[in-house]
Order: sequence, then C-alpha cells, then structure tokens
Amino acid sequence: MTSHRQVLTEDLLDRIRERAPRYDAENAFFDEDLADLKEAGYLRAFVPEELGGAGLTLEEMASEQMRLAAAAPATALAVNMHQVWVGVARVVHARGDSSTDFILSEAAAGEVFGFGVSEAGNDLVLFGSVSEARPDGEGGYSFHGTKIFTSLAPAWTRLGTFGTDSSGDDGPHNVWGFVTRDGGGVETVGEWDTLGMRASQSFSTRLDGAHASADRVVRRIPPGPTMDPFVFGIFANFEILLASVYAGLARRAIEVAVETVKKRRSLKNDAPYAHDPDIRWRLADAAIQLDAVYPQITLLARDVENQADRGALWMPQLSAVKSRATEVALDVVTKTMRAAGGSAYSNDRELSRLYRDVLAGIFHPSDDESVHAAWANALLGPVTPKA
Ligand SMILES: Cc1cc2nc3c(=O)[nH]c(=O)nc-3n(C[C@H](O)[C@H](O)[C@H](O)COP(=O)(O)OP(=O)(O)OC[C@H]3O[C@@H](n4cnc5c(N)ncnc54)[C@H](O)[C@@H]3O)c2cc1C
Repeated sequence: MTSHRQVLTEDLLDRIRERAPRYDAENAFFDEDLADLKEAGYLRAFVPEELGGAGLTLEEMASEQMRLAAAAPATALAVNMHQVWVGVARVVHARGDSSTDFILSEAAAGEVFGFGVSEAGNDLVLFGSVSEARPDGEGGYSFHGTKIFTSLAPAWTRLGTFGTDSSGDDGPHNVWGFVTRDGGGVETVGEWDTLGMRASQSFSTRLDGAHASADRVVRRIPPGPTMDPFVFGIFANFEILLASVYAGLARRAIEVAVETVKKRRSLKNDAPYAHDPDIRWRLADAAIQLDAVYPQITLLARDVENQADRGALWMPQLSAVKSRATEVALDVVTKTMRAAGGSAYSNDRELSRLYRDVLAGIFHPSDDESVHAAWANALLGPVTPKA
C-alpha cells in the first residue's frame, strides 16, 4: 500500500471535529478551522515544493481531503474549492504552461482562492456562462453576473471565475480570470440557511465590474467541451477532490455507527447491537460499497498526475467517480442511520449532521443527469435529429 504524506495532524483534526457542531448550529463560517489550516500549511500543501508548498500529489491531497471531511464535511467542502484551483495550476504547470503559476505562488503566500463558477440553472457548467466578460482594451476583463454557491464567501481573497465575451468578430468566447476581493466589483448577496454544509457559507456572489488584469486572464476559448489543460484541470481536480470529500464523510458515518452499535443494547438478545446479524450485515454492506470508491479515486488521481491518456473516456470517467462517490456516500450514511437507531435522528448527534451534509453531494456537478448523458453518448453516440 502506498504511504501518503500527511499535513493534517490528528490533534488538528480533533479540534476541527469538535468545532463542527457549533458552526452547524450557529450557521457560522469556520474561521478558527481556517486559521488553524493556514497555520498548518494546508492551503499551500498542494503547491509544488519548488514553489513554496509541501508538494502533495493529487492522490495525497485526495487522501487528506477525506481525512478533513471525516472531521468536518463543510470545512472540507469549502477548502476543497481552494485546493481545486491549486490543482488546476499544477496540471497546467506540469504541461509546461506557466499561465497559471501565479495561483501556485499566491497560494504559497497565503491567498485563499474561491470558486466562482456556478450560475443559477446553468447546466452547461464549465462550457458556457450567462455572465458577461467585458474587455478593458488592454488584455484584461471585467466580469458582470451572479454566481451561486460561492463557498468560502467570507474568506476568499482571490476568486476564479468566468464569463462570456461576445464583443469580438470571432464569436462568443469563454473568458476565465481571477479577480481579487480588494479590487472591488464583488458583493456577497442573498441568504445562506441550508439543510447541511452550513459552515461552508456558500453565499451568492454578484460580480459588477470585478476586474482581472491581463496577467490574471488565463483563458479565452470558444464555448463547449474542450480538452484544454486548464478546463481539463478543473474537471479532473474538481471531480476527484469532491469525490474524496464525500468518501471521507461516509467513512466517518461508518465509524460513528460502529461506535454506536457497540454501546446500544438489544433487549431481545441481551447483547450489544454489534452482535445482531442484521445490523452486522447492514454495516458490512455499507463498508463494502465504500471500499470500491477508494481505488477509483486513487487510480484516476494517479492517471491525472502521470498525464495518462484515457482518450474519449477521460471526462465520463471523471464524472463517474464523483457520481459514484456521492451516491454511495448517500446510501452509506442512510444505512448507518438505520443501524445506529433512533438516537441518530436527534439534532445533537453527529450522524444526523452527516445525513444532512451528505445530501449536498447530489447537487454538485457532474449531477446525475449529466453523468448519465456523458456515458450514454460514449456508449451509443449522440442522438441525431431525423433527416
Ligand atoms: C454546499 C454547496 C457548496 C457549493 N460550492 C460551490 C462553490 O464554491 N463554487 C461554485 O461554483 N459552485 C458551488 N456549488 C454549486 C454546485 O456545485 C452546483 O453548481 C449547484 O448546486 C447547481 O445548482 P442548480 O443548477 O441545481 O441551482 P438552481 O436551482 O438553478 O439555483 C440554486 C440557487 O441559486 C440561487 N439563485 C438563483 N438565482 C439567483 C440570483 N439571480 N441571484 C442570487 N441567487 C440566485 C437560488 O436561491 C438557489 O439557492 C456548491 C453547491 C453546494 C450545494
């Protein structure tokens, strides 16, 4: 078994786990966790060593994100957005392109990157935007539009975002750039009062002239699917690291359920429920399901790192790992609730929080519809209109 380098100590994870119920109950941002994670070097852990980081690989970062999610899913989900951008810059850098190296050096210097991509009802996700990117005539762009669910809303200092530039003679283009909070033209709007993942504080973000200078505009590309390393990097890091968050959450749910059934006693059998064959079967079943998710994450992460060629199946397989992990996690957490019994339904129990948090997995891209469409196209080809 490969041994993974770790940045998160057990002591730090214990502190983070202890705070999670309070953040959830108070619907508060994880300020203290973030300060601790910064202090521990976690926000630069994924930056290559030569650029000031700890040089974790994607496989190692996935493993660390699982450990963090097992302590506090909402903290892990929000920090994931920062790690995704660092991962994207690693992919681009590894392919000999320095256009996103500033992400690596700024992350090493302590900047916090938010992910300002999602838009209400936009199922094109990375391939088209209803926000506008207006050229400033000097190679820079200002962004106008509303992004939804910007995790880390109270804390990001850099926001990676995109919009459509329709100003040129060459047709609409997707423009990807990085704006700063200090630079203005950005406002956190709306409410954040959700069922789960409450500490992520993923408010909407209104962009009204947020400016990215020419050296912070990283792509201007036609809309639609592309294997451009920047877009591939988003896809790959997002799907793999997100899968890791939900796998870590599910692993924790099994741990909690195991502890619970060892203490909960059956009157009928005069024994702990841990001896009950039905409960044993149910928890084993949950663990078997989850067991298949780890190698899928690991192998994909290694292939991204090694620049393996999976051809036309790359994108569908990346979508599949996220889909499998989030769907399995949902099922696993449900099984742990059944095994743990009625006390798990109480709001002061960790399992009940995990049950609420895990549901967020179904909303992230690639959602169930898009992963099935991608696989159907890979298997059957596109549906052609009647002649
Ligand atoms: C916990 C969590 C964290 C996430 N973090 C991120 C992140 O950091 N970055 C990111 O890019 N995506 C993030 N996402 C978004 C996510 O991955 C999906 O893109 C999104 O959930 C898909 O939503 P939808 O299309 O189903 O939403 P829709 O149902 O179309 O809309 C969802 C939300 O958008 C709000 N909304 C709609 N219109 C407006 C408007 N005009 N102004 C303001 N708000 C509006 C609605 O109130 C609603 O809450 C997160 C999602 C969740 C659940």
